[in-house]
Amino acid sequence: MKWLEVSLSVSDELAESVAELLVRYATGGVVIEPTQIKDKAAKNSPIGPVVVRAYLPVDKQIHPQKRKIEEGLWHLGQIQPLPKPAFRVLEEKVWAHAWKAHYHPLPIGRSFLLLPSWYKVPHGDRLPLILDPGIAFGTGLHPTTRLCLIAIEDYLQKGQNVIDLGCGSGILSIAAARLGASQVLALDIDSQAVQVAIDNVRRNGMAKRVLVQTGSLDYLLDKRADHGPRAHMLIANLLAQTLEEMIPQGLANVVIPGGHLILSGILDRQTDSLINVSQQHDLKHIETRGENDWRTLILEVKSSAPNM
Ligand code: SAH
Repeated sequence: MKWLEVSLSVSDELAESVAELLVRYATGGVVIEPTQIKDKAAKNSPIGPVVVRAYLPVDKQIHPQKRKIEEGLWHLGQIQPLPKPAFRVLEEKVWAHAWKAHYHPLPIGRSFLLLPSWYKVPHGDRLPLILDPGIAFGTGLHPTTRLCLIAIEDYLQKGQNVIDLGCGSGILSIAAARLGASQVLALDIDSQAVQVAIDNVRRNGMAKRVLVQTGSLDYLLDKRADHGPRAHMLIANLLAQTLEEMIPQGLANVVIPGGHLILSGILDRQTDSLINVSQQHDLKHIETRGENDWRTLILEVKSSAPNM
């Protein structure tokens, strides 16, 4: 099999939108890597500091897919100027090498080591999170994911039960289980994400402690109605708007009083409004953490919260 590589150099902010567009077509993966600026002339060129690369299998679909990518990029370019993408065809071996060369074990926080699946687990104290970086998001490199991992590390105690709402690759669930959570419930509304998470949980040997299900807050509230157990911690790396809708719907009720909510995927300008809504719904704001424009809120369920 041959692979078509699509690459373009963009600003940090644009990298995500471009990667999101490409990931729809690029079954061979999408990577975001820093540009290697070799000479001064390149520094002054309108290109950005990162290169987004995507890999598509060269098959019958390649021409329509390439056209769709060009159209999608053209639309994005209407919002903010984009350079023209470069295309090149790679042999299977070159693709595998190009793809894998981007991924190296990555230490995160005090405890974790994000490990591409083709690496051997190294000796050492760090807890491996073995993941195939198949998609641009959820590989642990996104600031919102990294912020969640470090918050879990700081707030989770051994033996606690955790809910991971919007689990994606399952990375946060695997991390919680590795840190000693006794039971983790991982939920996602996207059935593809659920399958990926199940595979990743198995690959990490955490299937006994992590249950992955299709569902969202409704699923949790239904279980609550059946007097199901509540978690000590809920992690949700979603969008601020989604979180803001979920809080009045009873997000705090699935966590025990004194337990924590780690909410991520929030932009700086969305933080105040989300904290306000939280405070109106039995939640105490403990701290806000951040990286670039991204914010993660740590909230605590008030002890006086109704035991629904
Ligand atoms: N937890 C992972 C993935 C975050 S991406 C990480 O931190 O890296 C967000 C995920 O939430 C996606 O997989 C998406 O399918 C899922 N999602 C979006 N809205 C949701 C909702 N309302 N309920 C449950 N999952 C949702």
